[in-house]
Amino acid sequence: MSDVLVLNKKFYAIQITTWQKALSLLYIDHANVIDEEYNIYSFSDWRDISQHISAHSSGFIHTPSFKIAIPEIILLKFYDELPPMDIKFTRKNIYEHYKHKCCYCGKKKSTSELNLEHVLPVSRGGATDWLNVVVSCIPCNLKKANRTPVEAGMKLLVKPSKPDWQGPFALSFKTGMRIKASWQKFIDNVYWNSELE
Ligand SMILES: [Zn+2]
Repeated sequence: MSDVLVLNKKFYAIQITTWQKALSLLYIDHANVIDEEYNIYSFSDWRDISQHISAHSSGFIHTPSFKIAIPEIILLKFYDELPPMDIKFTRKNIYEHYKHKCCYCGKKKSTSELNLEHVLPVSRGGATDWLNVVVSCIPCNLKKANRTPVEAGMKLLVKPSKPDWQGPFALSFKTGMRIKASWQKFIDNVYWNSELE
C-alpha cells in the first residue's frame, strides 16, 4: 500500500519500509517524521497535525480515538550508519571475487575459459551459494566432473567464501514500487541504483 522512505540520523536514505513498521518506529520514539521542508515531527506532533489535515497523498490510519497520516519519510534517531551491502550472487561477481582464477589450478583465464563449479555437486545436495560455488577452468572442471574434490584427488587453492566488499551503498527499489515525489530530494542527495529486474 504505502511505502515509507527511511533516512538514517545523517539524512541518508537507507531503506524503504512499510507504513506499519514506520509507524511503530515513530511510536516507540526511534524515529521522527520529516517532510520535504526538513520539518521534523515526533509521534505526538504528527498525530496532532494529522487531525487538521484533510487530504494526504499516502492516506490515513484511523484508530478509535484519532487518525494519523501515514508518513512518507521518517528520520531515524539513533542509527547513523549505512546498512551492510548485500553482494549479489551473480556470475560476474563470483568471477571477480576469485579474480578470474581457477580455484583448483590457480591459472588466470578469460571469462569464456572459466566455469562456475559446485564444490559438492548439486546431484549430491550441494548448494548454489557463495560457500559451495567457485570458479574453475574448463580442464579442471572436466577432470573433477561430478565428484567431490577428495574423490577427484583435487585440492581447492582457496576456501570458498562470500565477498566482503566495501562499495557505495545503493538503495534498492522493488519492481513496481512507486517513488514518491517527496522522496526525490532525499534520494537525489545520495548515490543510488535502481534495481530494475
Ligand atoms: Zn584449473
